Formats: sequence, structure tokens, C-alpha cells
Amino acid sequence: SKAKLFDQNTDVKTSFKDVAGLEGAKEEIQEIVDFLKTPDKYTSLGGKIPKGALLVGPPGTGKTLLAKAVAGEAKVPFFSLSGSDFVEMFVGVGASRVRDLFKQAKEKSPSIIFIDEIDAIGRARGKNNMSGSNDERENTLNQLLTEMDGFGTNTNVIVIAATNRADVLDKALMRAGRFDRQIYVDLPDVRERKEIFEVHLRPIIKVAEELDVEFLAKQTPGFSGADIANVCNEAALIAARKGHKAVGKQDFLDAVDRIVGGLEKKNKIIT
Ligand code: ATP
Repeated sequence: SKAKLFDQNTDVKTSFKDVAGLEGAKEEIQEIVDFLKTPDKYTSLGGKIPKGALLVGPPGTGKTLLAKAVAGEAKVPFFSLSGSDFVEMFVGVGASRVRDLFKQAKEKSPSIIFIDEIDAIGRARGKNNMSGSNDERENTLNQLLTEMDGFGTNTNVIVIAATNRADVLDKALMRAGRFDRQIYVDLPDVRERKEIFEVHLRPIIKVAEELDVEFLAKQTPGFSGADIANVCNEAALIAARKGHKAVGKQDFLDAVDRIVGGLEKKNKIIT
């Protein structure tokens, strides 16, 4: 099969409505929506529009969702790729692929480039020279920096990157004119978990009337948004399998148990 360089979505339907909680992050990133929508307003006094923003936070907290919502809100094309896929799939040609990506994004500007797991590309240079593929990765990183530096002030492509390991990133990425804005996307607190449940209950055809969403939020400390989405889907499947007419409290609790079991297994493998 032919490896895909990146995804391109020119009609993003995701909006801030789909992102529950994360009020601070949404407020900060609104600025980027405004830059994309009315760049002239911002540059009228000589200011330069930022080129990049870095979303930092644990897995499954909505970083990709938030970046996509920026594209949806600003109604601009969304180019996305994952750093780890990229490094694996394009051995020897990473730098030229980065060039292609930026070329296409510029042609479709205003636009967003989203790089998930930027740490796969953007680890500090000159470390971990064991793998042998490091030169390749460094070439890719250097090309990314070159592209961002090469943007004219009126290019109007904004690069949003995500990581859960900001500490390992090459400091050069954070320099002014690159990813100089950092936005934290944390695990949800109990109130935010309730909001996330409400978003992911929407697609369920029938939820039991007496379901107490606050109770579910209290039962799920440490869960990410992705875990909660998972719980809601599992609960609907469990209820259907048992022949229930609506998805009820016990179905959700069973789903929570199953997800907790899965998380524990995953952690065992990692450690
Ligand atoms: P990773 O670091 O693993 O790439 P991420 O932070 O990019 O994770 P997303 O891919 O955005 O996480 O989240 C996965 C899914 O979890 C989303 O598509 C959505 O269904 C759900 N989700 C996560 N966070 C939220 C949220 N704040 N509100 C609503 N849904 C959420």
C-alpha cells in the first residue's frame, strides 16, 4: 500500500462546541482563529502574526480535537500528520516531504498544518545517537525549522503541533517566530468530565432518564476525554448486548470497569 504523507481536510466540521471543558486553552487559541480570519486587522500596525503554537498535555486530552476546531471555526483547510508515522514511513525523504507539505499548505492558505507527536521529529538534536536513523530525523527537523523561518509575514499558514513531552523538544523549536506560543491542555477535572460526558452522550440513541452524569464524572478521576468517549461507546455496546432498551447506570459502570482494566494493562506494558 502507498504510504500517505498527510491528511488534508478542506471542509472541517469540528467546532469549539465539540471541545468540552478546556476553557483556558480555547480562549488562548481563539486568537489563532482571529488571525486566520482577519489577518489584515492584526498586521495593520506592523505586528507579525505568529507562525506556530504548541499544544502540550497528556494523551487523549483533546489536542487534535482542539486544533481541528480551530480550522473549523476559521473555515480554513486542515493539513495533518503524525510525527511518529512520518519518521517511520519516509526514511530518506522526510525533508522533501516536509517541503511538499508546506508547499501545498501555502497554496491553500490561509490554512493550518497540524503535527501530532512532534517529539518524534523534534527531539533535541545531538542526543540518542544510537538509533542510526537520527541524521534522518534531524534533516526532517531542520527542514521544518527552515520552512517556518521562510514564511513571509503574509503567508498565513499557522502550524499547530502537539506533544506530551515538551521537555524533550529541541529548544530551537520554541524560539521566537517558531512555536513561540505554548498552550496547556490538561486532564479534565470533575466538572470538565461532566461536560465531556454530555458531549459523548449525544450520539447515544437512548440514555436512561435517571442517569446521573455528575455521578459518572465523579467515578472517573484521571480519565482523559478520549477515555470518556470510550466509556460512552462501550456502555452503548454493553447495553445493546444485554438487550436493554436504554443505556443505564450499570452499563456505564461496567464500561468504566472495562476501560480501567484496559488502562491498567496498558500501564503494565509501558512500565
Ligand atoms: P494524543 O496525544 O493521544 O494524540 P489528543 O490530545 O490529540 O491525544 P484527541 O485525539 O483530540 O486527543 O482526543 C481523542 C478523542 O477523545 C476525541 O476525538 C474526542 O472524541 C475525545 N475527547 C478528548 N478530549 C475531549 C474534550 N475535551 N471534549 C470532547 N471530547 C474529547
